[in-house]
Amino acid sequence: MGDCQRCKLAGGRHTIVFGQGNPHADLVFVGEGPGADEDEQGLPFVGRAGQLLNRMIQMIGMKREEVYICNVVKCRPPGNRTPEKDEVEACSPFLFRQLEAIKPRLICCLGAPAVRTVLGIKEGITKIHGQFYDFATSKALATVHPAYVLRNAREEKILREDFEKIREFLKEK
Ligand code: URA
Repeated sequence: MGDCQRCKLAGGRHTIVFGQGNPHADLVFVGEGPGADEDEQGLPFVGRAGQLLNRMIQMIGMKREEVYICNVVKCRPPGNRTPEKDEVEACSPFLFRQLEAIKPRLICCLGAPAVRTVLGIKEGITKIHGQFYDFATSKALATVHPAYVLRNAREEKILREDFEKIREFLKEK
């Protein structure tokens, strides 16, 4: 991406957070955009939400190094606001290229911006989570964003249930 200046997020970033993990992963996670910790370290999901994501990955018997993790936008939105339409439009071609290159068996969309961008679904996550959709040659599933679960502890049940579906799906060869 070089010194990307395709959208206004470029002005506020410290680092581009492109993605991290196994380029041959069966499972790819797509989040929303880097937060402060991610912007600082240049790696996705390394803050508190990332720690919860790590626990969920471990819960289904996988290691973080096995999967690939990225975001809809690669630069931190100011104050962690939701990425705006023009920012998503400028950045999503990079996400689509990542998904096309990895061709994972399953894409897990974390939160509404990922669901909207990857699947084009505008319905609420609480309605469509845990269901399998098609994305090119991959399957895709949506679940609640770990940061949302940190603010709404009751929703951890949804996250756990959806991760169990991921486990089941990946078990079938
Ligand atoms: N939240 C996200 O959506 N992505 C990250 O990388 C970290 C927190």
